[in-house]
Amino acid sequence: MARYTGSVCKLCRREGMKIFLKGERCLSEKCSIERRNYPPGQHGPSMRRRKPSDYSIQLREKQKVRRIYGVQEAQFRNYFKKAARSKGTTGDVLLTLLESRLDNVVYRLGLASSRASARQLVRHRHFMVNGRILDIPSYQVRAGDVIEVKERSRSLDAIQESMKHFGRRGEPGWLSLDKAKMAGQVVQAPSRSDADLEINEQLIVELYSR
Ligand code: SF4
Repeated sequence: MARYTGSVCKLCRREGMKIFLKGERCLSEKCSIERRNYPPGQHGPSMRRRKPSDYSIQLREKQKVRRIYGVQEAQFRNYFKKAARSKGTTGDVLLTLLESRLDNVVYRLGLASSRASARQLVRHRHFMVNGRILDIPSYQVRAGDVIEVKERSRSLDAIQESMKHFGRRGEPGWLSLDKAKMAGQVVQAPSRSDADLEINEQLIVELYSR
C-alpha cells in the first residue's frame, strides 16, 4: 500500500486526538487539533455520527497506532504476529516492539523532531548503533545499545533544532541521553507503560482476532 502523503494534521483530526506527527508544531498553539478539533472534510464540523460499530472502533485504534509509529499495514501485521507468538501479553508486546524501533528511539531521545523525521535521518545514514552506521529505521534496539549521531552529521539543522527542545516531550526512563556527545543509550527494554500515548491495544488484538 502506498505511503500517505497528505496533511498529517488531518490524521490527528480523524482520530480526534494529538498523535504528534509534526514535530515542535504539535506543542504549539498552531496545532490543528487545538484550533479545529473535528473530523476533516467539508462536513466535518457538522458531522453527526451514528454510534460506531465495534469493528470501526477497533479499526480506528489500529490505524491510530499505525500512524503514530509510521508503520505500513503489512509491517504492522507482522509485528502483531510476532507479538501473538511471544510469551507475554500480545498487546503489551506489540507496543514494546513498536517502541523499540530505531526511528522511535531517535525521536524519543530528542534527536529528531518527529518519528517521520527520525526515519528519514536514519535512512540517510546519520546515526550509528554500537559504533556502526545503521540505516534501518525498523531495527529493534536492545538494552545496552548506544545510538549516536555520526560525527559529520552533528551540525545538521534538523538534529540541532530538535535538540534545542529536548525535554519538552518528556524524557523516557528507559533511555538516557548524553547531550554533549549526542549519544543515547538504551538503559533497559521498554515496557508497556513507556508507550506514553493514549492507546487501547486490546482493541487491536480483538480486531486481528476476528
Ligand atoms: Fe497532530 Fe501535530 Fe498536526 Fe497537532 S500539529 S494536529 S499534534 S500533527
